[in-house]
Amino acid sequence: MIDLRSDTVTRPAPAMRQAMAAAEVGDDVFGEDATVNRLERTVAELLGMEAALFVPSGTMSNQIGLRMHCNPGDEFLIEAESHVLRYEQVAYAQFFGLSAWPVTTPDQVLAPELLAPHVRPPGIHTPCTRLVSLEQTHNRGGGSVMPYDALERVCRWAAEQGLKRHLDGARLWNAVVATGVEARDWARHFDTVSVCFSKGLGAPVGSALCGDAQTIARARRVRKALGGGMRQAGILAAGALYALEHHVERLAEDHAHAQRLAQAIADTPGLELATPRVDTNLVIFRIDESRGTAADLSARLAAAGVLINAIAPQKLRAVTHLDVSSPQIDQACRTIQQIASAQA
Ligand SMILES: *Cc1c(COP(=O)(O)O)cnc(C)c1O
Repeated sequence: MIDLRSDTVTRPAPAMRQAMAAAEVGDDVFGEDATVNRLERTVAELLGMEAALFVPSGTMSNQIGLRMHCNPGDEFLIEAESHVLRYEQVAYAQFFGLSAWPVTTPDQVLAPELLAPHVRPPGIHTPCTRLVSLEQTHNRGGGSVMPYDALERVCRWAAEQGLKRHLDGARLWNAVVATGVEARDWARHFDTVSVCFSKGLGAPVGSALCGDAQTIARARRVRKALGGGMRQAGILAAGALYALEHHVERLAEDHAHAQRLAQAIADTPGLELATPRVDTNLVIFRIDESRGTAADLSARLAAAGVLINAIAPQKLRAVTHLDVSSPQIDQACRTIQQIASAQA
């Protein structure tokens, strides 16, 4: 099977497993796990921030991040297609009493003009706007990179309004490799940044929330309250450290593979790319109604050995990652073209 459903399906390679098996560990709730401590220092340094907190998932990392800047009854502004809104069960409302104001954009790129009308004026009748949350790269935007200038502009504007900034950087590493702009240069515009090790980096588990030391000390308390305090978590942190050392630069391969898939899709009658560009490792595409539904195409592809999920009645998403080789990409391109043509 060539599995293009998600970059979360990767399995730890033998060398990563060895690093995990050999990890020095201790009780991380006591702050005594040397490998977790090393991971937290390494990530904080990469992002140019004072401190980092290892957490089980990107969802927990984002939710704690939001909570760091907002109290119950507060509101944050966020792009309407973002992961925090679409795929995290409104946890910020369930657990923290926060409200989100989704801001619609043509291209997932937030700008001061789009946000300004949604900032609440002071008053007893409304929640208080506290924060702007961004996503880099943008998942539902097809792995799109928010351009550096646009991001800097929106963050500068937010700071001028007295609003905090959180970045959902689950795929920030992809943006780093695609643009050459270093992680710390993206991160400098934010109060908190969440990054994932279990997406394109290929570690089995884990994310990190980064910020200043005081914020991360508070975040550590919230993580414990959510049940995210782990014990000998160094076994997991060792996988993340291995991934940071060995799997960041190679993301360029995944991006090149996505370009080849995108070209094959664009060349197939009845299929078209759903986003104007493919910036990184996600390829979202549409199937013409005359050729059937996305679910139908997904089932036919699966029967031919290629797994690609339907994400809407006429839309599919293919994701490249380190467990898909270059020959497998060629094979996937051929299969897509054959199967989609056969359906005509
Ligand atoms: C995957 C992802 C997350 C976090 O997901 P978890 O499954 O909770 O680790 C957060 N944001 C984005 C944009 C993602 O793609």
